[in-house]
Amino acid sequence: MLEATNRFFNNAADHLGLDERMRTILTTPRRVVRVEIVTESDSGELMHHLGFRVQHNQARGPMKGGLRFHPDMDEDHAASLASLMTWKTAVVDIPYGGAKGGINCDPSKLSQAELHRITTTFVSLIREIIGPTLDIPAPDVNTNATVMAWIMDEYSKYYGFSPGVVTGKPVDLFGSLGREEATGRGVMYALEECLKESDRTLSDVTVAIQGFGNVGSHAARLIHQQGGSIVAVSDISGGIRNEKGLDIPALLEWVANHKVVEGFPGGESIEGADVLTCSCDVLIPAALENAITADNAPAVQAGIVVEAANGPLTPEAHRILVDRNITVVPDILANAGGVTVSYFEWSQNIQQFQWEEARVIEELEKKMRRAYQAVAALARDERLDLRTAAFVLAIKRVVRAASTRQAVGHLLPDSLK
Ligand code: NAD
Repeated sequence: MLEATNRFFNNAADHLGLDERMRTILTTPRRVVRVEIVTESDSGELMHHLGFRVQHNQARGPMKGGLRFHPDMDEDHAASLASLMTWKTAVVDIPYGGAKGGINCDPSKLSQAELHRITTTFVSLIREIIGPTLDIPAPDVNTNATVMAWIMDEYSKYYGFSPGVVTGKPVDLFGSLGREEATGRGVMYALEECLKESDRTLSDVTVAIQGFGNVGSHAARLIHQQGGSIVAVSDISGGIRNEKGLDIPALLEWVANHKVVEGFPGGESIEGADVLTCSCDVLIPAALENAITADNAPAVQAGIVVEAANGPLTPEAHRILVDRNITVVPDILANAGGVTVSYFEWSQNIQQFQWEEARVIEELEKKMRRAYQAVAALARDERLDLRTAAFVLAIKRVVRAASTRQAVGHLLPDSLK
């Protein structure tokens, strides 16, 4: 996966004429940590899991990025996702660098008590390298507000009251209003901006969404509220489709009761993978990486693909879609709403002052629309696809910050000034 991220980075680096030395500096993480998490299961057996934290770059501020609990989690995933965080925080222009981490585990096979022990042991093992001014974790796949509360609690045992060590906390425990839905909401704003380019609004389009977790379900709810027709949805259990538009409030209630979309009576059941290639105007992959590859990219029917997940397209798939004139709104832009409201949460924690939800939404909307417009303008001016333009914008911002810190700005090539 890291290789894919670096290939996208290198397309932008080629455009900017970066030399090998600069590329190496910008792609090499500054710290990679691997820890052995040994805990007891509920039945008293010893459990052993590997935990990771990769800190990629801190030129623009403390490092920021989610924690993922997943059986595929490894150093390569963490490094790739950490790098994406550096570019993402730069695209939306918030004062952070990039990091990512997680634990190689299958949460569906663990009790709450076991997950709690694993999480707190992980925090005790990485506590020296995280902190409100150093590296601030957040939720990602299979982690949520409760897990963030455990992290805050454990870290505070060592360092005293520290709500700013982690974001995505419960609203009752120093979290921010509007954080839980923020990534989905940001996806909606990015899509709205994209549609403006063809004089369309959400009520003009049909949408298919892969993944119905935090990001996918909130994106579906908000797009549906604005008049968008969600014609297909999938999750780990399979897919459902209704050409006339799924009743999203009913589907949300179904999933709240049954955990998965499978069995929902308001649509025909289809293979999960078919959601990616069904007939629709907009496709939103919101599950995991590598959902669209060279194998299924030629069959994608949507005219716009909005990457709500991180890395859902392989570089080959991206090339195929761009060559087919399909607009791809890249992850480092489309799903940046989550880290943006994480930044607002952190700011509130530092100020010890809670914002009203309307303020969170207003500031998020401003950040997302501005970022989209900046990327789209660069893409138009320099004849780039949106992903390469987003990387170009981000690389310029990171390099400028790094070189200013070290007083070597005058040595930069013109393309980076
Ligand atoms: P989540 O765990 O809440 O949901 C993941 C969803 O994907 C679930 O509905 C799951 O059933 C589904 N899924 C898993 N495998 C699937 C498959 N093969 N086919 C179809 N569906 C499948 O995770 P999330 O927080 O919604 O994150 C989803 C993606 O968005 C990840 O790539 C994550 O890195 C990215 N992301 C999340 C946030 C955030 O704030 N949570 C922010 C930015 C990016």
